[in-house]
Amino acid sequence: MIKKLFNKQFVINRYRLSVSQLIIFLLLTFFACLIMLSATKAEDTLRINSHYGQVILTPNEAAWLKNNQNIHVAVKHGWMPIEFKSEGSKLRGISVDYLQALSNVFNVNFVPLDYSENISPFSVEIISGITGNSVKHQEFRIQPYPFLTYQFAIYVNKNLKDGQKIVSMDDLNDKRVAVFKNGPIAKQIAESYPEIKLLYVDIADEAFEELRLGHIDAYIGNQIIIDYHLIVHRLNFVEKAGMTPFSSTVSMAVRDDLPELASILNKGLQVIGTNNQEILENWNISESKYDRWMLPIVIVVCITLIWAGIRIFRLKQSMRIQNQAAQKTIWHQANYDYLTDLPNRHLLDSRLKQAMDKADQSLSPIGILFIDLDNFKHVNDTAGHSIGDMLIKEAAARVTRCVRSYDTTARFGGDEFMVIMSDFDNEQALEKTSQKILAEIQKPFEIDGELFYISASIGLTIYPNDTSNPEALFSYADQAMYEAKKLGRNRFQFFKASMQFDSINRLALINDLRDAIAYRQFELYYQPIMSLGTQQVLKAEALIRWNHPIKGMINPLEFISVAEETGLIDEIGTWVFNQALHDIKLLHTQYSLDFQISVNVSPHQFIESERLLAWKDLLASEGVEGRSICIEITEGLLLHPSMSVVNTISALRESGVQFSIDDFGTGYSALAYLNKFEIEYVKIDQSFTQNLQPNNYDAILCEAIISMAHKLGMKVIAEGVETEAQQNLLNSFECDYGQGYLIARPKPFTEFIQFLFEMRNQQSLN
Ligand code: C2E
Ligand code: CA
Ligand code: CA
Repeated sequence: MIKKLFNKQFVINRYRLSVSQLIIFLLLTFFACLIMLSATKAEDTLRINSHYGQVILTPNEAAWLKNNQNIHVAVKHGWMPIEFKSEGSKLRGISVDYLQALSNVFNVNFVPLDYSENISPFSVEIISGITGNSVKHQEFRIQPYPFLTYQFAIYVNKNLKDGQKIVSMDDLNDKRVAVFKNGPIAKQIAESYPEIKLLYVDIADEAFEELRLGHIDAYIGNQIIIDYHLIVHRLNFVEKAGMTPFSSTVSMAVRDDLPELASILNKGLQVIGTNNQEILENWNISESKYDRWMLPIVIVVCITLIWAGIRIFRLKQSMRIQNQAAQKTIWHQANYDYLTDLPNRHLLDSRLKQAMDKADQSLSPIGILFIDLDNFKHVNDTAGHSIGDMLIKEAAARVTRCVRSYDTTARFGGDEFMVIMSDFDNEQALEKTSQKILAEIQKPFEIDGELFYISASIGLTIYPNDTSNPEALFSYADQAMYEAKKLGRNRFQFFKASMQFDSINRLALINDLRDAIAYRQFELYYQPIMSLGTQQVLKAEALIRWNHPIKGMINPLEFISVAEETGLIDEIGTWVFNQALHDIKLLHTQYSLDFQISVNVSPHQFIESERLLAWKDLLASEGVEGRSICIEITEGLLLHPSMSVVNTISALRESGVQFSIDDFGTGYSALAYLNKFEIEYVKIDQSFTQNLQPNNYDAILCEAIISMAHKLGMKVIAEGVETEAQQNLLNSFECDYGQGYLIARPKPFTEFIQFLFEMRNQQSLN
């Protein structure tokens, strides 16, 4: 009957159909409708097939993603291995890898920004790593799906076991145990185990140090972080003794007003999974690796690997070693200075905070030494950076030798070091250490077979006596160091409240100096340089003065060094040269065509020498002969001159400009090497002139310098001649020229011209 029914035929339009054919037709139509329906649905929802699995986004979420291709994330940079910055400012870490995985899944771009406690909620959409389950920022909500869960473990110093075995929390009663201060479990331990004597630490390093010294019995820490530190640091003395019942998580947090983003992220994190092994393996902390009960499995895996082929095994092994080495390097780079291998600023900050906490507990102060090398810039500019680097390295080693092993010595910047000293008896202990450092730095540095002499200036400040603000501590130490420099360098100085005014003054001075350049508040004074044989004046030194609108006339000693440090000297130097050019033309027309003006040029002006090279063209366009200008430089510039210094000097010499060595006797005082630069004049420093007594040491030295200079074809100018006796003695040594108050003080240009005519008149009368 059924067969009959199936064979029964219908006639639709002109087509003849059996029932079976009709059923097939209806089924086909039904499936076609289904396919069409699902196709229209697929247009709205978004299915993403990623490496980790499939993610389906709602139409709203898909639309949100499409409109927000750049998502800003606040990332911490000192939380290793969760998220941190390596030396090249590259962001690394587990959360960064999760962000990368999410970016691969959703094809979006995460823009990292530095996390800070008071980050503006409008600048970022996500905070990448929040530990525990509360977020401090009320505008953000923590993601329900953490990407990392970890347990807290107990770590001990395996070399210091004193009979009693520690394997669980119960073994820690009455023991001294370190725990991370701001972490999620410090409070829980304190509440659940009141008998444990807790020491709060800021970073793992501090806990390891306490463990090493036997100051504490154990350290409770996040297993992921600590295992990582143990590998990276090769802290062989630390052993994981047992686990705690405590655990915590790390999650991302999303801004409250972005529900689509929150749910997109949630889906992404779910598909990637908490503690994704692929990601954790990058950080060498795949969980199975360190749990003892996994050892048999590891052995089986090893055997399988051998069976699968020794080659693959070796390859993996070498990659792992490379990876470990790379991790270690990254950690090291983030915390240590590449050149000296001392802690860098980053590590210094956290060491200071730790020391401050300890000081608060023990009510003992901390001393901070800010060490700055004197004249280092000069060596670096003139001898070259590689010599400079070697000098810094050696100086770092010397400073480290002067302090105790548990003090922190850090490199603060270029030629600046910082020492944190706790546990000292009194200020004299700080003084003693400072003196030791000064003495060490003063010893000659032998680099590449050459001797270099520098010194150091040290500023000291004491916590909490001077201030309890860590930033202010550094700044006070810096101000004290500045005072030491001002008082003549190669010395130490404790911070005093009055110094604060000085540093404010310094800032004001820099601002005023910019105005001085803009409003041309400078003036050139001239001091005659007299021929001691003929008493004629055909030379003068141009000395700058600053006519400050409020403070009146300011001497160069008060502003040249600041101008050099800020680079303003380049512009000031250009002004000096232009003014000198203007004045020499008047001197030529009104007084003598043979007149020569000396201008002082700082080593800094030779660094970017375009301005100096332009002097050649200026001379030509003003129609002034080069020999009318003499440039005064200090001998340090020539000791290890860079190519640029050599080229600039020879270019200026080609146009006839002459050179003299200023302040001779205060630096390296070697005449012979000056010879190859064809320097015309040597100026004996005024400190020698002023100590001149017949047959005393300075007199013998002066005479020797003069005779040697003459042999090398140079003329000698004695600076700072104040008495007839000095001038007579210099004359008897056949010194060529004298300059000093005895002849005339530096004068404004018009007064100087008057002085010249008076001198000439007097001479013609005699
Ligand atoms: P300097 O080149 O050694 O100049 C000589 C300094 O000694 C001048 O001080 C001068 O006034 C002073 N002086 C001259 N004769 C005597 C004397 O008989 N007794 C004593 N006690 N001092 C004397 P000033 O003018 O204060 O200049 C100080 C320093 O400032 C100069 O030392 C020079 O290094 C620098 N300086 C001056 N003008 C310029 C400039 O235009 N550019 C640069 N870069 N530095 C300059
Ligand atoms: Ca000079
Ligand atoms: Ca001088």
